[in-house]
Formats: sequence, structure tokens, C-alpha cells
Amino acid sequence: MKEKLALFGGPKAVNETFPLYNPIGTEEAEAAKRVVESGALSRFLGSWHPDFYGGEKIQAFELAWAQHFRTKHAVSVNSATSGLIAAVGAIGIEPGDEVIVSPWTMSASATAILVWNAIPVFADIETETFNLDPVQVEKAITPYTKAVMVIDIHGHPAQLDEIMAIAKKHNLKVIEDCAQAPHALYKGRYAGTVADIGVYSLNYHKHIHTGEGGMCVTNDPALADRMQLIRNHAEAVAEDKGVTDLSNMIGFNFRMCEVEAAIGIEQLKKLPRLVENRQAVAQRLTQGLQGLRGLRTPIIRSDCTHAFYKYPMVLDIAMLGVPRAKLISVLEAEGVPGLGGGYVNVHRYPMYQKKIAYGRNGFPWTAPAYKGKASYERGICPNAENLHDERFFGIEMCEHQFSERQIDLVIKAFQKVWDNLDQLRENPTTTKVA
Ligand SMILES: *Cc1c(COP(=O)(O)O)cnc(C)c1O
Repeated sequence: MKEKLALFGGPKAVNETFPLYNPIGTEEAEAAKRVVESGALSRFLGSWHPDFYGGEKIQAFELAWAQHFRTKHAVSVNSATSGLIAAVGAIGIEPGDEVIVSPWTMSASATAILVWNAIPVFADIETETFNLDPVQVEKAITPYTKAVMVIDIHGHPAQLDEIMAIAKKHNLKVIEDCAQAPHALYKGRYAGTVADIGVYSLNYHKHIHTGEGGMCVTNDPALADRMQLIRNHAEAVAEDKGVTDLSNMIGFNFRMCEVEAAIGIEQLKKLPRLVENRQAVAQRLTQGLQGLRGLRTPIIRSDCTHAFYKYPMVLDIAMLGVPRAKLISVLEAEGVPGLGGGYVNVHRYPMYQKKIAYGRNGFPWTAPAYKGKASYERGICPNAENLHDERFFGIEMCEHQFSERQIDLVIKAFQKVWDNLDQLRENPTTTKVA
């Protein structure tokens, strides 16, 4: 027997609010307290001095991170955005260079390129994992291309070996934005450690956090050195440190505090368990949703694991006969939390559409240093555009804590809505009622 949809006055399938996701515990509180009581909340000095590399907690956190992720160097920063900026500067980008990047990402991935007056060139994504399609990356290469910024979006690693091979062939550097995929595996290696530089986020909304924060990893000591300089007033330190390559030695203050580093050390210890719990929850959800017609549950490649920052799904609208917005409002009425239709198409932001970033006159696109013709027209990334406009929807996994029982309620809500699809088709003008 069909149960009446909550949207039409029936009982909600999920009649409770789930607790907010919170990875912070007493270990973090005590670690932070000890630093606060010491009075030394940051030990960084922006001059050539042993404290140029930060205090005890910063150094311990970086060491622990490098060991955990099996990389030679880890450079802490005050956000992944800062980390991406440091990474793009470190690889020696020149104004007017092009960097190929996915449009299906947080704005900061592409902004980090513009900060150095380089030009983001958007290549389309593949529809399976929503990551950069290596074929499209190769097509987007021009004489001006210097690097690729690949994103492990929603927690699934991109096709990293293919992209690294293309980069090698064309002499490009690769930066991996791994903000959403800490602890995900790619062919036995951690996401973030395959490219020349990997950048993780420690922002409140991510798997583990320090409030704000980020970490850059690399196996190249020269890149680590340049990121450490950009992090900490490079231009003021260059002479005393004997820096010979002054390119992009425009230093910011991207330094993390000792308090955050102390919290980060505790958070890192919890990362495997937090991600594995989420993988178990996602697997249960997938088992429950698998049979629903016209709904594609997340694809996990056989040589990868998924960190499930988001639980990404794709709808077959023609088969369902119900538009995405309506399905979402019906599921929301049933009490399913964290639903969202579409994702980001960075190239469609006004800054790109109008090509106005620095000042009013189109800089850096109009700068003499830029010889290319990057286009941000609709249609340049058809997969990303179509998925965003019509077919993609996901559940935020970092907003709420999901227990097995709660996941079963979510599954029940989906099943109930799918049982009533006929009814939704028959009432094409139905809107959400209070
Ligand atoms: C969150 C996020 C960032 C930015 O991280 P912050 O630490 O908040 O600066 C960058 N890229 C992606 C893909 C993200 O999800």
C-alpha cells in the first residue's frame, strides 16, 4: 500500500532532525587549552630565523601529516585557498600562462590561478565521478598552458595517472585540490599525493578541521621551500635566506596558529576512523537506493576509495518524468536533510562571464602578457553544465551525523517518493506546501 507523501499531508518518513556533524572532542579541547595556557599562540617570524618555519605545534603537525600521507614535505597554511595560491605561485607560473582546471569545484581552485594573473581554462568533467576528463584536458592544451589543477571532487580521486601522463608529455605541472578527499585512496596512494603538489582543507565544513586551515604536500623540496616562502613574507626573507629565484616571491601571511596546529594533530589521528565511518554509511545508503529506477548512486572506481564529502547522484529525468526540483522538494518534505540540486559551474560566475577580476578593464585577460583566447561561453563544458542544470543532486555528508538507523530512514523516504512517482507526474504544477 502506498503511503501518502508528506508534501500532500501524509506522515514524514524522517520525523527527526539529525545531529550536526562534529569531529571535535575532548582531545582537541585539551590540546588547544595547553597551547592557550602557554601564551605562545603563534611562533612564526616573518624573517630569516629558526621561527620562520613556525613553532613546536606547527612543526609537529606538519611532520605528522607528511608521515600519515607518506609525502616528504607538508606545509601548513591558514586555509586551502591560501594553500592553492601558494601552490600556483610555487610552480613558477608567469602572468598570462594558462592553467587548465575543472569547472566542477569550489571557486577557490580557479581563483588561486587568477591571483597570479594567470588564466583559468576550464576543461569538461567526466560524468562518472565529476572529475576532470583527461581527454578534455589534453584538448584544452594551448601553447600557453603551464599547469593543470585537478580536483578530487566530492571525495573521489580524479584519473590522476592519466592526467600526470598528459602533464609529463606536455611539460606541465599538476596541482591536486584534495580539499574534499582526505584519506581517499587512488591505486593504493592517498589522494593529494599523486600530483606535484596536493592541497587539503582544514575548514570547519570538511572531514576534519581546525576552524580554518589547510595543508600542502609535495615530494619536491624546492616546491616546499617556495611554498614556505610565499606563506611567510617571501620578499622580506629572500635576501637573508639567499633566495636566487625571485619569481613569485610575493609573500603573504598564510600562517596557521599553534592552537590550530595542536587541534590538527588530534584531528589527523581521527581522520581514518571518521572517513571509514562515512564510507560505511554511504555504502548502506547505496544498497538501499540501488534499485530505484532513474537514480544513479555514486560510482566508485575499482582502484579508488571515496571519502564522501558529498553523496553524489544523477537522475535520469526522461525515465522519471519528474523534474529534479520537484523530487528534491518532495524528499525535503519527507525530512531528508542536506539535499541540493546541481553543483558549481565556476566558468558561469559573473567574474568569468564579464571577465572582470582586477579593476574594471578586464585584467588579466586583457593584459599584454596574455596571448590566448580563453572562452567562458555556455557550452564549453557540456557535461558540467547539463549535470548542474538538470541531472545532478547530492546529499551533504559533512553537515549531519548519520547513524545506520538514520540512513535507513533516509532510504525509506526515497523509497516512498519513488513509490509515488506516478502521482508526481500527474500533478505537474504541485509546489511545496507548508
Ligand atoms: C573547501 C574547498 C576549498 C577551500 O578550502 P578552504 O580551506 O575553505 O579555503 C578549495 N577547494 C575545494 C574543492 C573545496 O571543497
